Amino acid sequence: MDKMHLSQKDKLFKADLQDPYRAAMHNKGPAYCGDCGASYQAGRWSWQKLAEADAAARISCPACRRKADNAPAGTLTLSGPFVLSHHQDIVNVINHVEQAEKSQHPLERLMRISPSSDGLQVTTTGVHLANRIGHALESAFGGKASYHHDDQRRHVAVRWSR
Ligand SMILES: [Zn+2]
Repeated sequence: MDKMHLSQKDKLFKADLQDPYRAAMHNKGPAYCGDCGASYQAGRWSWQKLAEADAAARISCPACRRKADNAPAGTLTLSGPFVLSHHQDIVNVINHVEQAEKSQHPLERLMRISPSSDGLQVTTTGVHLANRIGHALESAFGGKASYHHDDQRRHVAVRWSR
């Protein structure tokens, strides 16, 4: 296929197919996650109740599978004296961003926030959430951030220091 003729949607669809945690869902009927309650319908995940819940398949959603496998899509490494001395303020921003993001996009969730010797390590189930947390920290506190996506854009490593 000529790459020039791929629409943006096709590209996104292709990127989705390359994500092993999402690929299995394509072309399936309505389903819901038995772990978190997210529902899958017409190609997208949401928190809406399914109209015909009895007919839906009970599965484990990509975000819950990533958590179970400890396979994050986003990794944030936060470091520096400010991070160490403003631990709680930073965690509050991270939780706030997750709440906003997760309500619209069920597969974008925090996995773990863990202290490291020079700051905090944060993992997420979605690339988008990791990006948003990085930008939120930059705009709230300044500092320096960098974003490194892998070639298929399935994983992002965010570094923020202040
Ligand atoms: Zn789930």
